Amino acid sequence: MRAALSVAALATDLNLSTQVRAMVIQSLRRVSRGFTVGTAIALGVTAWASPPMMPVPDRLPNERAAVSSVRVEALHEHDPAGCDLCAAAKLRAAADLAGAPVIEGGLAGSSLSDTDVQHYTLDLTVTPALDHLAGTCTMEVDVVAASLDRFEFRLADTFLISSLTVDGVEATWQRMDPIHVRVTLDPPRPAAARFDLSVAYEGVPTSLGLNSIVFQNRGFPSVRVFYTLSEPWFAYTWWPQKDDNNDKATGTLIFTVPGNYSVASNGLLTEEVTLPSGQKRYRWETAYQTTPYLFSMGGANYVRFGSTFNHAGGSMPMQFFLYPDSNTTSNRNRCFQTAEMLAAFGNIFGPYPFINEKYGIYQFGFSGGMEHQTMTGQGVFSESITAHEVGHQWWGNMITCATWSDIWLQEGMATYCEALWQEFKPGGGPSALQATMNNRRPSSVNGTVYIPNPTTVNRIFSSDFSYRKAGWVFHMLRRVVGSAKFFDILAAFRAEYEDGTATTAQFVAVAEAVHGEPLDWFFDPWLYQVGAPEYRYAWRSLTLGQKSYVELYLTQIQNVNWPTFTMPVDVLIATSETQSTTTPVWNSARAQHYLLPQPAPPLGLALDPKDWVLIVSKQETPFVEGPPKIIATTPEPGERNAAVDRVTVSFHKPVSVSAFDFSLEAELSGEVPIVVAYNAIEHQAVLTPGDALRPDRYRLTVWDSVTDAASSQSLDGEIADPLNPAALPSGDGLPGGSAVIEFIVTQPVIPGDLNCDGAVNNFDIDAFVLALVDAVAYSQAYPLCNPMAGDVDGDGHFDNFDIDDFVARLLN
Ligand SMILES: [Zn+2]
Repeated sequence: MRAALSVAALATDLNLSTQVRAMVIQSLRRVSRGFTVGTAIALGVTAWASPPMMPVPDRLPNERAAVSSVRVEALHEHDPAGCDLCAAAKLRAAADLAGAPVIEGGLAGSSLSDTDVQHYTLDLTVTPALDHLAGTCTMEVDVVAASLDRFEFRLADTFLISSLTVDGVEATWQRMDPIHVRVTLDPPRPAAARFDLSVAYEGVPTSLGLNSIVFQNRGFPSVRVFYTLSEPWFAYTWWPQKDDNNDKATGTLIFTVPGNYSVASNGLLTEEVTLPSGQKRYRWETAYQTTPYLFSMGGANYVRFGSTFNHAGGSMPMQFFLYPDSNTTSNRNRCFQTAEMLAAFGNIFGPYPFINEKYGIYQFGFSGGMEHQTMTGQGVFSESITAHEVGHQWWGNMITCATWSDIWLQEGMATYCEALWQEFKPGGGPSALQATMNNRRPSSVNGTVYIPNPTTVNRIFSSDFSYRKAGWVFHMLRRVVGSAKFFDILAAFRAEYEDGTATTAQFVAVAEAVHGEPLDWFFDPWLYQVGAPEYRYAWRSLTLGQKSYVELYLTQIQNVNWPTFTMPVDVLIATSETQSTTTPVWNSARAQHYLLPQPAPPLGLALDPKDWVLIVSKQETPFVEGPPKIIATTPEPGERNAAVDRVTVSFHKPVSVSAFDFSLEAELSGEVPIVVAYNAIEHQAVLTPGDALRPDRYRLTVWDSVTDAASSQSLDGEIADPLNPAALPSGDGLPGGSAVIEFIVTQPVIPGDLNCDGAVNNFDIDAFVLALVDAVAYSQAYPLCNPMAGDVDGDGHFDNFDIDDFVARLLN
């Protein structure tokens, strides 16, 4: 669902036209609310099998009783007043209160998990002139409990239930509260049994929530159109069903309406007939699993047109229904454009999930869009809303949020789909993605994406948190794991939960499984905590010897009560000699310092130039000194050298060092005594052992007792791999952390003596071959031997050209 304006700004379009209509409707409503049996009988309605309107106080939470009185009061004020906006506002307030405890408490009595609805058949006659619904809903229900003696469904008490049968037999039932009806199953049904529950009902509905069931005048001359938008939990305002996202079912929806009306709904239009009465009957059927809030109807004197979506496996009809006054070329073209959207999303998400049926759009009075499965309602035909609702067919319909706490999964993805469409549509690209996401920055980040307590419609459909911030979570996840893995995650999510529902935790588990690493550091702050980073940064150029560096200072200055965000942050650096390069830094603390080697002196720097991170702000700030880092050592990490008479450690800035800051250990002979000197010009410590180092493996530790000469900050010394020279410069961006590197002093190099036993003979053949074909295996097998002993021809390289000379050396 997407509103064109913010949800809070939406007014429901209860558009009662004349006083006469209001009076008729009011009297109908009184009747159908069934205050007395006598009234119902007087109207010729079959008497019910058990007394209606019998709330059971001990089953009725206090807040719900209070809520229903608020709602009724609002209705009574609304009917005679004609103050549509006031009434609408009150209805909305009441709806927000009314919905929450009901849905979150689930159905009292028979728990939602006791049953599995297989199919709904709704046969509904709509009389727009009277805002009246009359019909029958038959539910085919499977028992998934050991035994079931009752079943509860939801239908507003604005309706009169004229008959309720189970397997064709009139059943005992009881209204539990204004929303729930309990049916007694007598005898109880055993596990795996299926029963058919049929509810005949009629009345004038009350619209709640965003536009759950609306009749309104449209056009000139005016026609009274109608439409539904049940999300999140207001399906009960127009039809009886078990409103549980997790119980999806197939459906047959039959609508009888005045002869000049068309009705748009889910699935395929399998029948369209004119009845002897002059009314038209439309039968829509869907064989796809559909969650209750995604069933819908829209009726009007629509202009209907269609097209065909051709895809790799064949073709699929597309059907469009516009109000006559909106049948413009521009709106029609927008409808046709959905074929391109289906194709684009099909390429990145896999095929359209309802490919055996259709995609359609019908116009309705809600000023936004609603992704009713296979048949989206739109009151606005912008490209972004259209793409949003097409995206929902995958994210929201194919996989539905298991609870309203998880709404971000579908509204965030649908919002991201607006940007993905701009990226992947013909002529689109990455800059369009970036621009679109920049237009979807939340106006506030001070709320969570996951909703711990989804009690109001406004909170669930929070534009800032459930849509925009959630859309950014997907965008950032893509940057964190990379585009390929991001779409792999969506594919794996689909594979696991298609036609069902999913929770936030289930999505996170799929993401982590595909990524191959925990992602709690990413998801926890972005989903469950509030805020976003406010970056401040500074940089300066540094040249040491022949090498150029960028020193980057990066801080997060957001509210201290907000989390510190861990993100890879891209740094774009322009230098004098090469193309600009982008380097990510791993930002995980409030203040960090990075030292980034450059191929030439740096000229300029941009932080996160592609806007991958949702921020409150980013600005440059004065540079603050950071901790010293190690930029080089001799020998290098992992180096194998036959002659080492001293070890050097170079820092990127002046440091204070002493002999206590270093230790050098040999694997075989233990601690090596050293003398430490410091070259202040080159920021270099020189470690001299008493004698040249003997062949052995050495481990050099530079303790973080080394400090910055100016600021006294401790060495930032961490080195990810003690054998890899590319692991320098050292550090994780924070003061503290000792450095460890390893190197090997090999036996003296004697050409041809590959096993380094001091002689060249047949015992060197295996070692020679191994060194030639697998240097790593050689260094493991002969850790203290130097492979340059293989350079028998003395040309400075060890390669195949040395073979002949090696053989000659053996033979001589
Ligand atoms: Zn949406």
